[in-house]
Amino acid sequence: MATDRNVHWQFSGSDAAKAASAASLGTYTSKLFALCNPNGKPILPPRGETAETSHTAEKAVVKAVLCGTGNAYAPSIGLPAAKCAVADYLSRDLPTKLSAGDVFMTVGCKQAIELAVDILAKPNANVLLPKPGFPWDVVHSIYQNLEVRNYEFLREKDYEIDLDSVRAVVDENTFAIFIINPHNPNGNTYSGDHLEQIALLARELGIMVVSDEVFRWTVFGSNHFVPMGKFSSIVPVITLGSISKGWTVPGWRTGWVALHDLDGVFKSKNVLDAAKQFLEIDSKPATVIQAAIPTILNDTPKEFFDKRQSFLKDKADFAYSKLKGIPSLTCYMKPEACTFLWTELNLSSFVDIKDDEDFCEKLATEENLVLLPGIAFSLSNWARHSIDMDTPTLEDAFGRLKSFCDRHSILGEAPLKDVNGVN
Ligand SMILES: *Cc1c(COP(=O)(O)O)cnc(C)c1O
Repeated sequence: MATDRNVHWQFSGSDAAKAASAASLGTYTSKLFALCNPNGKPILPPRGETAETSHTAEKAVVKAVLCGTGNAYAPSIGLPAAKCAVADYLSRDLPTKLSAGDVFMTVGCKQAIELAVDILAKPNANVLLPKPGFPWDVVHSIYQNLEVRNYEFLREKDYEIDLDSVRAVVDENTFAIFIINPHNPNGNTYSGDHLEQIALLARELGIMVVSDEVFRWTVFGSNHFVPMGKFSSIVPVITLGSISKGWTVPGWRTGWVALHDLDGVFKSKNVLDAAKQFLEIDSKPATVIQAAIPTILNDTPKEFFDKRQSFLKDKADFAYSKLKGIPSLTCYMKPEACTFLWTELNLSSFVDIKDDEDFCEKLATEENLVLLPGIAFSLSNWARHSIDMDTPTLEDAFGRLKSFCDRHSILGEAPLKDVNGVN
């Protein structure tokens, strides 16, 4: 049978996800890690590792497994106990409280983003997304044939949103502005005043605000985190979140969408029902993690977050100081949140680097060091560097980055040597 080559197979793979998947961070990451030499220097950042999570979270999951509280299917909108715990948790900082009915459990923050896009996308509609920004909403918009319009940031105001750039692109078919706070990759946190300005502008424009707050637990700068939901008396707000980044458990795939619907706009405009309908036909987070969510949210000690924040602050300080010694890269703001350094490539100072992708590919090939190119976040000729490593590892990473940049730039004096695997 195996030798019969004349069968006419009636199937082939679909291209439906081809364009969208090309914009995914995972596509860039896989390509760059594949360029690294497995027999060369240790590959950085170490792939598939995360910082240690809180024991409270670990024990909560183990308990759910042992007690069997998460063995059954959960309702499509989420396990009631988890919805209730998320509503209470998010309400801690809010003047008006959410109820369990305002919250839906999702497969990480990514599905929360997808849900926000899916329940609002219509033919001819457009959505405002940040440039740069974490691209999952871009990916999903491409998949949904939704028009994406970009707004920008003010570098001189520590990456506040450029509200003029928002006004410039909105039209009568725009339905929402998506914001990321704290912002990945800019690494800043918005002040309450700035969020209020965004709310007022969105109200004036008749659009809602969708706020991705997945990094709210890793803030270590002087601006404290303020939830967008605080301004939902001004404008309808959808908050997206998950335990992935705060508890360093992205593999647990559990997050949420919260609808802050003070005036019942979401109900009257069918958004609430649309969310339930999409979740009915979509995949759900594992019940066993949902069952652990109340304990994870309520009982994780503050020291866990304090420790993580001071670790990251220390790394941000260290990385920022190291970057000062690399003239071909410019970091305009020391990060005050998240786990990255976001830098501009001074392309004119390189002799043989075409653009950010070329930079990242050569760096991975020669130094076994993976930085993500800005284009993966919709902004060419920037790069995002992970700082979530212990100091000696980070020192190693920056040493390699410096020698790479020196080697490829006009200013550099280092001769071509010590190239990965070549020497
Ligand atoms: C990592 C990340 C996500 C995805 O979160 P998951 O819970 O892992 O799906 C969403 N938004 C931003 C800004 C992120 O950095």
